[in-house]
Amino acid sequence: MLKSFRAALALSVITLSAFATSSAFAAPLKVVASFTVIADFAKNVGGDRVNITTIVGPDGDAHVYEPTPADAVAMAGADVVLVNGLHFEGFLQRLVDTSATKATIVTLSKGVTPIAFKPEFADADAAEGAGTGGGKTVNDPHAFQSIANAKIYLKNIADAFCAADSAGCDSYKANAAAYTQKLGALEGEVTTAIQAIPEAKRVVITSHDAFGYFEHAYGLTFLAPQGISTDSEPSAADVAKLVNQVKQDKAAAIFIENITNPRLIEQIASETGIKVGGTLYSDALSPPDGPASTYIDMMHNNIEQFKGALLGS
Ligand SMILES: [Zn+2]
Repeated sequence: MLKSFRAALALSVITLSAFATSSAFAAPLKVVASFTVIADFAKNVGGDRVNITTIVGPDGDAHVYEPTPADAVAMAGADVVLVNGLHFEGFLQRLVDTSATKATIVTLSKGVTPIAFKPEFADADAAEGAGTGGGKTVNDPHAFQSIANAKIYLKNIADAFCAADSAGCDSYKANAAAYTQKLGALEGEVTTAIQAIPEAKRVVITSHDAFGYFEHAYGLTFLAPQGISTDSEPSAADVAKLVNQVKQDKAAAIFIENITNPRLIEQIASETGIKVGGTLYSDALSPPDGPASTYIDMMHNNIEQFKGALLGS
């Protein structure tokens, strides 16, 4: 009797300690994501093993974002910080310094082949915001606009989570594999949608150059007066130059971006007579009740906008 009681007790101790180390009782990994696209990827990889704080929220502009004291607190308490890199987050170094965070800062664009950007319309100031001298060729930071690159981000997130929480590694890898498969299907949809647009109509205008990787991957040409950052207003000369080129090249549609003021786009639309085609999600997702609250929905929204404006007439 006593012996079996001891055996039962020993067994329950083993069971308890097994529980204590299982995912059900482990504290979630504290993850900070610099912006909404990365937060969405991290949620898909981390599931309920991670607790995500997003710095630049829905419809926010990471190029010009000013961090808050709450951001510094989140950074200081983080286990892992996920960022885009390629100078996308203009605020990043300041925030890392102020928060004195000890977290690993993981650059998700690592492994991506950067696309060089040479300002065409935007003046020297716009290029300076991307971290180098005016007018020089710089790397385009919007690598996440190519779905092939999004898969690289996913792998980097899974590796970072595995390094920080080895007990969850199998689950992170399985989640990343499942989501990567969805991205593969999405890639097919985007490619098909763009190929359905006649080549003569594949020139569009946006306010800033956020779609260089999309252009490179899927074959739609984007013209933008504002360069790869939004941190300076284009000059009147830049806008006039773009208006002239639009008249020559016959851009087929012009789009507002969710992160920028539509005023400039409305001005170009009125000067060129091109109708505004709708809203593209460029550097941020929408709020949860909007049309682009996930990366996959963002891509769906954008191809619907292209199709609606370019196939309609
Ligand atoms: Zn941008």
